[in-house]
Amino acid sequence: MFNLVIFGPPGAGKGTQSDKIIAKYNLAHCSTGDMFRMHVSNQTELGRKVKEIMDSGQLVPDSITIEMLEDAVQRNKDATGFIYDGFPRTVPQAEALDKFLADKGQQIDLVLQLDVTEEEIKHRIAERQKISGRADDDASKLIKRIDEYFNKTIHVLPYYQSQGKVVKINGIGEIEAIFGIICAAIDAKI
Ligand code: AMP
Repeated sequence: MFNLVIFGPPGAGKGTQSDKIIAKYNLAHCSTGDMFRMHVSNQTELGRKVKEIMDSGQLVPDSITIEMLEDAVQRNKDATGFIYDGFPRTVPQAEALDKFLADKGQQIDLVLQLDVTEEEIKHRIAERQKISGRADDDASKLIKRIDEYFNKTIHVLPYYQSQGKVVKINGIGEIEAIFGIICAAIDAKI
């Protein structure tokens, strides 16, 4: 079982690189953002609960997010590994994930930190919004999302650094070149 966290601010390329990692290493994708968007578009009870929070660019409360994530992992019994994309985004989420995995005799094996400047994020998300139409990609909401990242999510990094699990990857450049560096980091651990 290989458990990988892909970490970085909104627009760092987590989704793009996750798709490539999944195709090559056959990992199950655990994207809490995708799960929440699915709930919103299916208008489930959870979707109704989180829609406004998401649209405003804020983080969904930990208790809701952790429960949904753990449920998704439990249901995927055949997976030989997972890639956590957009999770954990707070230290309590990281702690909950560690405990959840430890109870199954597992651990996080590697944290890939995609390093991208704030200027680049803003540029990329403005481009993405033209296609995605995501309400939270709107410039005014993006400010809140970047805020949430620097206030809450950034602290997840020292949490994993203290465990010696973080490999920092320059997230600016050609997608294929970045993927090559990512593969080398995974191959060294797998
Ligand atoms: P993403 O697609 O990963 O950028 O996530 C879109 C939105 O979903 C975020 O701005 C949050 O509102 C919510 N979300 C996704 N993952 C999490 C998480 N781990 N913790 C809290 N909220 C999350």
